[in-house]
Amino acid sequence: MKRILDESELNLESGRLCLEFANTADWHARAEPVETLHEYSDLIAWAERVGLVSGEEAQALAREALRDPEQAANVLAWGIELREAIYRVLVAASRGEAADPLDLKILNRGISQASARAHLMPDGEGYTWVWSEEGPALESLLWPVARSTAAVLTSGDLLRVGQCADDRGCGWLFFDTSRNRSRRWCDMRGCGNRAKARRHYNRTHRGKGENEQVLTTQP
Ligand SMILES: [Zn+2]
Repeated sequence: MKRILDESELNLESGRLCLEFANTADWHARAEPVETLHEYSDLIAWAERVGLVSGEEAQALAREALRDPEQAANVLAWGIELREAIYRVLVAASRGEAADPLDLKILNRGISQASARAHLMPDGEGYTWVWSEEGPALESLLWPVARSTAAVLTSGDLLRVGQCADDRGCGWLFFDTSRNRSRRWCDMRGCGNRAKARRHYNRTHRGKGENEQVLTTQP
């Protein structure tokens, strides 16, 4: 059984796993965001990058996805549905608004799937949370995300969930740990880089430059 990792053990740019997952769609505040999860293997790569799975676990999941491609496609579709619900619920929460009941229903489905897999196991003098699955379960990558969303939503820290103020629709979510909650932007690796890529695209594809302001992280 695999120990359920604490979020502090993960490699998160946004500060919380659920926000990190929401950010797997680029330009999320636009009418047509840019999808980064095209195949189940993209989900594995993301999970490995943030530290949810080891290289070995990622390979086992990849083998399982090859063995059952239909299930892998279903898990990916469900993951994206769950991600979009998480995104909308968190954006609403960050604005002090109520979530759409349909989104909450999707999120609760994800949370109950995750909760059904979380077990307590004796660990030295105490207990620890483990996932009950023995083998590589394709949907297991979504369970920590659902748990993380529940943790953030019940933390009393909802107003620390922020969204990049970039007016081109960056949409990147972050957990604002600044003392007076003054953070407004993602960072240069986020929409700054995407802005750069877009300027490059515009230059090479349309032959015109753009005077886009490169955003920096505010202190
Ligand atoms: Zn941004």
